[in-house]
Amino acid sequence: MKRILVSGGAGFLGSHLCDKLLAEGHEVLCVDNFFTGSRRNIYHLLDNKRFELLRHDVTHPLYVEVDEIYNLACPASPIHYQFDPVQTTKTSVIGAMNMLGLAKRLKIKVLQASTSEIYGDPEIHPQPESYRGNVNTLGPRACYDEGKRCAETLFFDYHRQHGVAIKVMRIFNTYGPRMHPNDGRVVSNFIVQALKGQDITIYGDGKQTRSFCYVDDNIEGMYKLMNSRAGFTGPVNIGNPGEFTMLELAQLVIELTNSKSKLVFMPLPQDDPLQRKPVIDLAKKELDWEPKIPLREGLIKTISYFDQILKEG
Ligand code: NAD
Ligand code: UDP
Ligand code: UDP
Repeated sequence: MKRILVSGGAGFLGSHLCDKLLAEGHEVLCVDNFFTGSRRNIYHLLDNKRFELLRHDVTHPLYVEVDEIYNLACPASPIHYQFDPVQTTKTSVIGAMNMLGLAKRLKIKVLQASTSEIYGDPEIHPQPESYRGNVNTLGPRACYDEGKRCAETLFFDYHRQHGVAIKVMRIFNTYGPRMHPNDGRVVSNFIVQALKGQDITIYGDGKQTRSFCYVDDNIEGMYKLMNSRAGFTGPVNIGNPGEFTMLELAQLVIELTNSKSKLVFMPLPQDDPLQRKPVIDLAKKELDWEPKIPLREGLIKTISYFDQILKEG
């Protein structure tokens, strides 16, 4: 049994990770400032004797004693990370530095939740880990993209300079229960709009693509990466290579919810990547991992979650 720190543990992915680590028999220290996370995501864990919650902002130093760190703290949806862009960069960069400083002092392993946004609006399709990306340093997404890129740099420099054991995971669009209903990301937006009978908001012509991974597959990949062979640092892509246009996603959500919602077209946000799809050969080889849950099946589970929370009000 290990004592494991999960930063961003009250968020969408973080709360599922806490569930997984507790199920594996570990103790969890969940650290979150509740910027985009919610107590609701972890209510069910508050009585668990192996679960501890700490309200803390990772841009401030943290002195605790743990055996492993998963660093997930950072808003992930464009609406939220662009709300206070300076804070987003601080969270990614200073937050990473503090988690790395902690890992260095304790001589423990630390995993970074990086992102496919590292690749920006990619000129290579699909994206292997070796692709260096196409990010606009000046645009509205840069606070997140460049923050995450700098965090990767810090991870590799702490590894080379201080011998910190690191695992870097590049997460592609992931969805599932506990996404925030007002999160602004496409899957939660479309499902909530369809369930409420509101117009479905397609940005641009809807022909841009994304690859959507169900949360359980993501968490399995994250756990396998943390426990992968010593010396394997990544970066490794974790995502589902199934690629869909936003129009296809909207149609599928309408079908699965039996909704009468109509599509409306709105301007495409600046620097919105036109296409995205992971190459996952490295994850298959090193982690013996690949996603198991197809989009239709994952959407059915996610729709039933949103249906329930919308009824609860
Ligand atoms: P989320 O917004 O639901 O979770 C992020 C959590 O971090 C929230 O609980 C939030 O309150 C917390 N947080 C934010 N700033 C903090 C700070 N300064 N100090 C402490 N806590 C802070 O998002 P998520 O989808 O669960 O994403 C988790 C991680 O995975 C993020 O690092 C994100 O960049 C990464 N990621 C997610 C996706 C995805 O599709 N979900 C894709 C790529 C990368
Ligand atoms: N840090 C922390 N917890 C620790 C050890 C370090 O929060 O247990 C922070 C520390 O405050 C510093 C950062 O992590 O700002 C980086 O630590 P490092 O040891 O690399 O930097 P230094 O203290 O040498 O500046
Ligand atoms: N999108 C959309 N309608 C929405 C929300 C998003 O068409 O209501 C589009 C968005 O422009 C992008 C894609 O869906 O092309 C994925 O957006 P999301 O914010 O979920 O993730 P990211 O752009 O970070 O991959």
